[in-house]
Amino acid sequence: MANGSQAPLKVLFLASEAEPFYKVGGLGDYAGSLPAALRAVAEKEGRPLDMRVALPFHQSIAVDPSGFKKAAHLTVPKRRGTAKGIAFQTTFNNIPFYFIRRSGKAGGFERIYSPDPLQDARKYIFYSLASLRLAEALDWQPDILHANDWHAAVAVHQLKRLAPVHPFFRDTRSLLVVHNLPYMGGGTEDVLNEFGLPPVDAEGLPAWGRHFPLTMGLVAADHIAAVSPSYAQELLSDEFGSGLVKFFESRRERLSGILNGIDTHLWDPRTDSHIPENYSADSLERKPLNKASLLQTLGLPPDTERPLLVAITRLDVQKGVDLILSAMPALKDLPWNLAVLGSGSPGYERDFSDLQAAFPGRVRVSLEFNSHLAHQLYAAGDIFLMPSRYEPCGLSQMIAMRYGCLPVARAVGGLRDTIQDVPADARTGYLFADADEASFSRALRSALADFGNRKAWQAAQVRAMRQDFSWEQSARRYLDLYRELRTEGK
Ligand code: ADP
Repeated sequence: MANGSQAPLKVLFLASEAEPFYKVGGLGDYAGSLPAALRAVAEKEGRPLDMRVALPFHQSIAVDPSGFKKAAHLTVPKRRGTAKGIAFQTTFNNIPFYFIRRSGKAGGFERIYSPDPLQDARKYIFYSLASLRLAEALDWQPDILHANDWHAAVAVHQLKRLAPVHPFFRDTRSLLVVHNLPYMGGGTEDVLNEFGLPPVDAEGLPAWGRHFPLTMGLVAADHIAAVSPSYAQELLSDEFGSGLVKFFESRRERLSGILNGIDTHLWDPRTDSHIPENYSADSLERKPLNKASLLQTLGLPPDTERPLLVAITRLDVQKGVDLILSAMPALKDLPWNLAVLGSGSPGYERDFSDLQAAFPGRVRVSLEFNSHLAHQLYAAGDIFLMPSRYEPCGLSQMIAMRYGCLPVARAVGGLRDTIQDVPADARTGYLFADADEASFSRALRSALADFGNRKAWQAAQVRAMRQDFSWEQSARRYLDLYRELRTEGK
């Protein structure tokens, strides 16, 4: 219901990455697209939203920052002395974006995520604390602090500490969104200690969780959201709850699952400028032109009748890429080509290079992060491989479906919420239950068999492409949640 007279809802949104400034994975897509979607829905409803995003200022920023303006000098108290930094500001999609840089040697901002937990700790714990100082420096009292993952979770913790003693934050309520539970920010205790942040305690919290940034944030959060309804359920299970099941049970009433959306303008085969041939569900006959072009680029034989399997992924144990490595040689007698785009664990990078060497006329592996190539692969591919061990939401499968590339994926988390396997006449992809090669191979075999049935395959592609993966519905849920929290805060 429209209510233009209401004071704007002020939301401070924190994330470690956001497209187009930085993107390592799905969090970058999320933080790059959700704020604008929230604004658009709020505007449509006639309810003003004052949304501001604060990110760390990584050195590997993908846009030219020379036009950013200095917004504030920030000082964060430490147990001994202070840590200082500067916030810069720019505007993106009509939303103020702030970039927080820690001054001095402890900045450590050259990589978005470092393998050294201490380096990340010095960056992200400072960033989390400094984001609250930024709100004060701007004299802008947020109604909602929306923090994502461990990198921003200490802000939630600090907010809870400050609220009773610091009137500026008395009415601010917090939402912590969990995108990947096992990444909790472990190994950062010394830096937490440096900043005078003591361990926490809460019902159901195991002893080890008392001084992890993520768990500290979870304990303090007024609300916790997981990035899909199934993942919210899975947090309550031994298989996926990372030892925090009892804790999550104690927060059941304050735990939601909200499915991620994707930027449907960025990911649209009708208008995508990265791909040689635009197409839609009404002109599927053009899609193979993208395959022909890609096969040529990759130096694979120009056989567009042969199904092209595609994987675009972090090469990480989470993504089940070992199942691809072991299944493909076993399925060598079936017709397929495989294009993999990914980077990550050196061991997996070697294994995929070996796979290419073993199948030189069928497998191409690009060990890099390459957005342009990613668009081309989604457009060219027939079958998308995503055998994740766990998948909080997953965006790649949604993008793949939008491009008529049907996923073969494990029935976990957001994969199970976005892919329909049965009945066959409603199918948009293929799901398998167990994270083992036999289960994955079975699903892939059945996809390869169905690919031969042109009419049924195309019907599935059309269904997959016509699904609504936009943010609209989920943005509405976030806004409702913000409003509920704000009401509680008054
Ligand atoms: P996660 O966030 O766990 O890595 P998601 O499926 O949620 O997985 O999101 C992955 C995002 O990153 C998608 O937009 C996907 O296209 C992109 N991506 C993953 N690996 C690469 C790569 N090597 N090059 C380009 N884009 C990639």
